[in-house]
Amino acid sequence: MKCDWCENTTVYSRKYSGENLCSDCFSKSIVRKTAKTISKYKMINGGDVVGVAVSGGKDSLSLLHVLKQISLNHDFTLRAITIDEGIPGYRDEALEIVRNFCDKIQVEHDVYSYKELFGATLEQSLELREKKKISSCSICGILRRRAIDFGAKDLGVDTVATGHNMDDFIQTFIINLLSGDTNKIGWMDLELSNNKTRKIKPFCEIYENEIVFYAFTNDIPFQSEECPHMNEGIRTEIRNFLNSLEKNHIGIKNNMYKSILKVSSVLRDEPGKIWKNCSKCGAECTGDVCSVCNTLLNLGLNQP
Ligand code: SF4
Ligand code: ZN
Repeated sequence: MKCDWCENTTVYSRKYSGENLCSDCFSKSIVRKTAKTISKYKMINGGDVVGVAVSGGKDSLSLLHVLKQISLNHDFTLRAITIDEGIPGYRDEALEIVRNFCDKIQVEHDVYSYKELFGATLEQSLELREKKKISSCSICGILRRRAIDFGAKDLGVDTVATGHNMDDFIQTFIINLLSGDTNKIGWMDLELSNNKTRKIKPFCEIYENEIVFYAFTNDIPFQSEECPHMNEGIRTEIRNFLNSLEKNHIGIKNNMYKSILKVSSVLRDEPGKIWKNCSKCGAECTGDVCSVCNTLLNLGLNQP
């Protein structure tokens, strides 16, 4: 079958739009879609230094690859930031892949480790939990947020880009919904910009399977080893559930994504909600201390 946009052979059929694309046109469509999302939500300003959080997985490496292409004819520069959680046997493979990839596409790369910043690796921090009340991924996510903020400030980055795709975005919404914490849903609002480093998700309108295909078709190497904590949380179950829904009801993820944007912006501006600044780090929150500082305090970790 011929590509809808050129004379080449189709390698990808986009079910929700009916398009049939060759590998080149598919890749171009991902770059174009990402650029459109960036401009729609004014994610990047002229002259910005964009720090890309690169874990070594398919999403973050593909994001770096796509942003590099967009940066060639736009006014922003890239820095890659990798966080080393200190998970034995897992992070080393990724660090090597990211280092080589950044060399190849000529993006400067820096690594920040939990051990250096917090005085403990992830595994050591998990030992400090009381009765394992918080999941490994929740603690890891909180430490990563602070580590990325630290790295961004250290490197003079204006905007931090993460590789979260549409599937991640919907999964996070459902996890927040199930946890009963509507504040977290308000924070998902894409229009959200506080006075600190901007956080952007340029892949938030792209399905996860398209990122996988992009990585394969562009020969982007990515980590094969899975984190040993990966299946401890509820995320994998939600991912499987959403994939089975999408299989039978094409486009359902897209619809859900749009609904989440509306719900989160309403919750963000909920009447009576008072936003304060964390007394420890100054981040916007609804209590006296933000959830990141609170967790660091409870675990007795350093506060970088
Ligand atoms: Fe951290 Fe969980 Fe990701 Fe592992 S799967 S790196 S513990 S967030
Ligand atoms: Zn084509």
